[in-house]
Amino acid sequence: MPPISPKPFSYETFPNSGHVAYFSMEIAINPGMPTYSGGLGVLAGDTLRSAADLGIPLVAFTLLHRKGYFQQHLDKTGMQSEEVQPWNPADFCTEEPAQVTVSVEDRIVTLRAWRYDMKGRFGHVVPIYLLDTDLDVNSGWDRGLTDHLYGGDTNYRLQQEIVLGMGGSRMAHALGYRVNVYHMNEGHAALLTLALLERQLGGGPLGSATEADIEQVRRKCVFTTHTPVPAGHDRFSTEQSIRILGGDRTARLERQGCFKDGLLNMTLLALRFSRYANGVAMQHGKVSREMFPEFAIDTITNGVHAPTWVSEPIQQMLDEHIPAWRRDNLYLRNAIDVPETKILLAHARAKEALLTEVATRTGLVLNPKVLTLGFARRAATYKRASLLFTDPERLVKIATEAGGLQILYAGKAHPQDEPGKRLIQEVAENAVKLSNGVLRIVYLENYAWDLGALLTAGVDVWVNTPKRPYEASGTSGMKAALNGVPSLSILDGWWIEGCIEGFTGWAIEDGANDAEEANSLYKKLETAVVPLYTKDPEKWARLMRNTVAFNGSYFNTNRMVKQYTRNAYYPVNLVEIAKVREEVFAD
Ligand SMILES: *Cc1c(COP(=O)(O)O)cnc(C)c1O
Repeated sequence: MPPISPKPFSYETFPNSGHVAYFSMEIAINPGMPTYSGGLGVLAGDTLRSAADLGIPLVAFTLLHRKGYFQQHLDKTGMQSEEVQPWNPADFCTEEPAQVTVSVEDRIVTLRAWRYDMKGRFGHVVPIYLLDTDLDVNSGWDRGLTDHLYGGDTNYRLQQEIVLGMGGSRMAHALGYRVNVYHMNEGHAALLTLALLERQLGGGPLGSATEADIEQVRRKCVFTTHTPVPAGHDRFSTEQSIRILGGDRTARLERQGCFKDGLLNMTLLALRFSRYANGVAMQHGKVSREMFPEFAIDTITNGVHAPTWVSEPIQQMLDEHIPAWRRDNLYLRNAIDVPETKILLAHARAKEALLTEVATRTGLVLNPKVLTLGFARRAATYKRASLLFTDPERLVKIATEAGGLQILYAGKAHPQDEPGKRLIQEVAENAVKLSNGVLRIVYLENYAWDLGALLTAGVDVWVNTPKRPYEASGTSGMKAALNGVPSLSILDGWWIEGCIEGFTGWAIEDGANDAEEANSLYKKLETAVVPLYTKDPEKWARLMRNTVAFNGSYFNTNRMVKQYTRNAYYPVNLVEIAKVREEVFAD
């Protein structure tokens, strides 16, 4: 082992030593580009924004999603219909001359890349390459492989994953990047490990790979798992794997133990070929270790990109009181010192912006003085959007005692998720049935980046009711916290770490069933939220301040990306440093 330099080792010393290549099926890059569906994409985008701010040498790969994730329309009954959102890559990106190929079924598919430059606050650029198969040389079917995010069947998905993983890693090579670390953000990109193994073998047959060859791949790869919902882990049949990937590759994957219950499991594949893996919140790390007990799965809790999600009025307040907050989000801890009146006024302006948007979209004029709850996220059944309607009479009574209550909903259901769509209808029906002089319930169409920012900043309380333990992290409550908006939430995902009862928000207590948890939700509204909001604005303001100081300073991607850099990409442990220097940087 070479002597270890006593010089401190940190990511700041890396600029010319190669890149981290970050792979994600979806990335929320720019509000004008419909290349994401929800939390995973927003997290990826926020990660890249912070990497750019921090000057991390990182480059990202995703698919172009030329037809865009869908635009949502709701009819009067809350029935969802979907419309494609085609967009023009040339409006945002530059086409790269490089092309690479991958084999899909028995075809050769050619792909190119569009580059988007994500600029950080000090000018550092994180290039994002959006892979595109829409080329004349490809067949009609193959030209559509990069059209739809989470569209089509599992055959389409596996083909897309070949383009993302294998195509992406070949593109990184073709573009001349020297990659030290491949980061798979969720299992969709796990096939990149196969491309690396094939390169390692110099074109030799996969059957000839030795344990040393595999170790060579493993020490370059890190993996983040994002969901404790079994259905959220991509799986493909042996038949699909043989037909689409090929017999040799399938045999190798079987030999490496990447099949479970007869299915090719992309999470297992990623875990088997990674030197480091993590879950996205403390509790999710635990659940992941239980799901995959063979692996040492670490935890790096998610965050959000603060300057992206803090509303204009709160930004102004922070700029005045904590000028360093953008450079280093840890300074947000000093928000504990912001005057109560300032945060109340700033929030009132954010609320006004939200209610103006609601009026523009729906014609409904809501009251800025009235307690307003927000609930917006993917309409997945485990998130239980309708839990608030378990006892409608009790909800109306709460509204009456609060001098009015407004509840704003938003969220898309995946086009093939029928139970999710019914859930939206159930909320919409209740909105019609229960809305009266004191209680106003609105379901807003087409939840996306812009509406997400307005909602998380403008409501008074952010509500989250997932069924435990299915919320890996959740990030919208973090956006709220940065805006001084407390959460009222089930103790799952990030909220286990973020909730200090009565200080940063409130916990909905665990119950044996939905009814018991709904009871706790009502009780917290009756005994804690409503009395504080209606009777003690000064104490409410202090609670808002606490959420920024305690949760805003921690649940951000500024902290998160530093953790990835030090724990996953370039571990700072001295033995690890020697290993990294000797092995990873050798090539
Ligand atoms: C932040 C965000 C999400 C993630 O929300 P969760 O709380 O993790 O469910 C999803 N969609 C949009 C548009 C967002 O901005």
